[in-house]
Amino acid sequence: MADAVKFGNYINGEWVDGSSGDVGESLNPAHSKEVVGTFQKSTAQDVDSAIQAATEAQKLWRKETGATRGSFLYKVADILESRIDDVAATMTKEMGKTLPEAKGETARGVAILRYYAGEGLRKTGDVIPSTDPGAFMYTTRKPLGVVGVITPWNFPVAIPIWKMAPALIYGNAVVLKPASEASITAAKVIECFAEAGFPKGVVNFITGSGSVIGQGLADHTHVDGITFTGSDGVGQQVGQAVLARGGKYQLEMGGKNPVIVADDADLDLAVEATISGGLKSTGQKCTATSRVIVDQAIYEEFKEKLVSKVSELKVGDGLDADSWMGPSVSASQLDTVLSYINKGKEEGAKLIFGGRRLEEDGLADGYYVEPAIFDEVDTKMSIAQEEIFGPVLALIKVDGLEEAIEVANDTKFGLSASIFTKNIARMMTFIEEVDAGLVRVNAESAGVELQAPFGGMKQSSSHSREQGTAAIEFFTEVKTVFIKG
Ligand code: NAP
Repeated sequence: MADAVKFGNYINGEWVDGSSGDVGESLNPAHSKEVVGTFQKSTAQDVDSAIQAATEAQKLWRKETGATRGSFLYKVADILESRIDDVAATMTKEMGKTLPEAKGETARGVAILRYYAGEGLRKTGDVIPSTDPGAFMYTTRKPLGVVGVITPWNFPVAIPIWKMAPALIYGNAVVLKPASEASITAAKVIECFAEAGFPKGVVNFITGSGSVIGQGLADHTHVDGITFTGSDGVGQQVGQAVLARGGKYQLEMGGKNPVIVADDADLDLAVEATISGGLKSTGQKCTATSRVIVDQAIYEEFKEKLVSKVSELKVGDGLDADSWMGPSVSASQLDTVLSYINKGKEEGAKLIFGGRRLEEDGLADGYYVEPAIFDEVDTKMSIAQEEIFGPVLALIKVDGLEEAIEVANDTKFGLSASIFTKNIARMMTFIEEVDAGLVRVNAESAGVELQAPFGGMKQSSSHSREQGTAAIEFFTEVKTVFIKG
């Protein structure tokens, strides 16, 4: 508790306490009694204050040039870069991912800020030929206005930044509501925005319960757009609330991401990528590999290699240099993972590795679970259909590519998918037929470069795209202009 930090809300350029006077504690999942920091349990009144500040500020912010807006983002990038070690260590303490992963994520946040700072000087419209010889026709874009940003705990630096940076560069003011479980890391990111000197009210930050603050933003008639990343159930609720009042929304939600291992695959590469894609961040990535669809011809060999490599992984506090995988983020997330492991067994799958809660050797006060590998999984089982968000791999045996793709597509989700094969015809068939917004060949299912569009199909997304130049579609609206001389 000695070095626990306390954060206020950041509204209209000031750090302020919430109107309830209550604070929440953010705990370290590796040592569950350790308080990483405290955050405000805000109320609807605080939501109103933040939205009011953003509404006023946006009137002037929208008039700044892209270059000016970009100059603030460059400043945030420099400040965050100088604090990578502290921000990353806070992330590891607050949500459990290992320190190298946390540093990688923070560095990515810096790169995203610089990418969008540069967007301030790039084109935002097109000239369109008119059939009228005396007319000039073009498109221009207008910012949405006030954008509510609701984010999950699993990428507490990168996700707020990849939503806020494009929102800001295109002239919007923002109100960020981070996940309660990662409020302290998010507050440290907001400190960088605060110190970059944005005009008051352009960037606002409020913490507290999702059902009060998140829902309050979604329902508020002065919030022009909501960009949400989180679970399927909450996302659908947010989308309906925004739709009901005619607002614009963007939802990025869960996944049940498959990797297909064809009979000609480089098996060592496929094993390595399955482990990295499925178990890094303790399986708590929306793009994590959770279904491993393997051709029967190489099934036994692949399985043996996979189990052997997974059994070498060291689980422990993400701050320890020799830990490969950290804890689950919370007691409830650990319970969810363990209950899916039980359900897998009950429904007839065979647990061939791991799956125990780890309580030995100093792990007892953390939320540690051994990676789990299931064999003999049927595609209709819960562990093959529902997002677990934990280190659980479900092996499914298939006969050929056609069946593999059929199984890959047999869920309500469609976020990412990958295949391991050396055959270009198979690659092309997979690319063409798999239902996923991110399609990867001979690479793990998790990951996308920041300049490329990111988003899912089916129930993984509201079908818009984040990142890269695609972000402009959500954060602006197009005006078609016709001028007659
Ligand atoms: P979550 O429980 O859905 O929470 C996401 C955010 O919504 C949090 O800030 C939460 O606040 C807030 N919230 C909760 N109830 C709300 C409500 N009624 N109205 C408005 N906001 C509300 O998700 P999570 O557990 O943080 O994150 C894990 C999920 O995120 C997984 O399903 C994962 O697949 C998904 N995810 C998707 C992507 C993607 O790009 N597709 C990326 C990363 C994660 P509180 O924390 O205060 O409850």
